[in-house]
Amino acid sequence: MKRKTKMVHGGITGDERTGAVSVPIYQVSTYKQEAAGKHTGYEYSRTGNPTRHALETVIADLENGSTGFAFGSGMAAITSVMMLMNAGDHILMTDDVYGGSYRLTTKVLNRFNLDHTFVDTSDPAKVEAAIKPNTKALFIETPTNPLLKITDLKKMSTIAKANNLLLIVDNTFATPYWQQPIDFGANIVVHSATKYIGGHSDVVSGLVVVKDDKIAEDLHFIQNSVGGILGPQDSWLLMRGIKTLGLRMEAIEKNAHQLVEFLQSSSKVSTIYYPGITSHKGHDVAKQQATGFGGMISFDVGSAEKADQVLSKVKYFTLAESLGAVESLISIPAKMTHASIPKDRRHELGITDGLIRISVGIEDIEDLIEDLKEALE
Ligand SMILES: *Cc1c(COP(=O)(O)O)cnc(C)c1O
Repeated sequence: MKRKTKMVHGGITGDERTGAVSVPIYQVSTYKQEAAGKHTGYEYSRTGNPTRHALETVIADLENGSTGFAFGSGMAAITSVMMLMNAGDHILMTDDVYGGSYRLTTKVLNRFNLDHTFVDTSDPAKVEAAIKPNTKALFIETPTNPLLKITDLKKMSTIAKANNLLLIVDNTFATPYWQQPIDFGANIVVHSATKYIGGHSDVVSGLVVVKDDKIAEDLHFIQNSVGGILGPQDSWLLMRGIKTLGLRMEAIEKNAHQLVEFLQSSSKVSTIYYPGITSHKGHDVAKQQATGFGGMISFDVGSAEKADQVLSKVKYFTLAESLGAVESLISIPAKMTHASIPKDRRHELGITDGLIRISVGIEDIEDLIEDLKEALE
């Protein structure tokens, strides 16, 4: 099956009993047992629910893994994956990792004596140098937010294997339509499905996919023990989103390339960050490991005032956090998603006050370009 077909026909589709072509929403908490302990495979919906199971099956299929898990948010998914660690373990993380993952690691997991080091994972030598005797996992994001830095998945997998580390990849920005980290040796893939997979700014959710049966067993134990599961209604909405994921990603990619071309021609814009540009530092690696570059673009307009002006003028770009939806979104990372990072550190990372981030939607490109052009004047 090719990718777009898999999004429609992958996993479990429809309902055998009635012929319904959409998986029913099993809005249920418990299941009648024939005799004590003799059940259909479903006994309680924290442990397993047929609608959630259908979603978990299709995402495992799309990521070329064996088992999927659905959680109530991306952070619930990431937290559950971190529960595979033990007190005293050490994890390595991409230095410009998603803010929520940064907060979880530095403000919550640290209290359980789970140690961490942030490292520029776009440089394999730095990753190797940061490994300690108690390092158990390498957690990476590629592309990153908001500067779209790229990490080489194959190189990370080689390092992880040589040092017996779990390679965990947050694949939210690329989506399984463009990038399948398990094919490059990742052990665990995580998603904020709130973003592209849901795709319509209407569900908060997280997904995890693993390939190894032992990790699957451990993670199911954690999912059932910790309990941060996704409900049946939201599971169903994600399956609906997945059916058009390919179409949406193609449309977003096309729009993104044309917007980048426009930005490159504009005298009001200095640096543009997009992995599809040949001068982007990670372009070659991105091209090797993904079939598309995605719909996130960041660019610098020179000052906080100018950035504010653009955001106040745009009509079709909604000023909001989050990303990956059908509607185009616009934000100022320094004031919004990355405001909690101290200014000096922000500047060190390259997140300037005039940096604008857009999440390209599926609107007509002429409208998007005209809107940005007018706002930049
Ligand atoms: C949004 C996001 C998360 C967190 O997901 P939630 O669904 O908001 O909990 C994790 N990683 C990345 C890359 C994200 O963009």
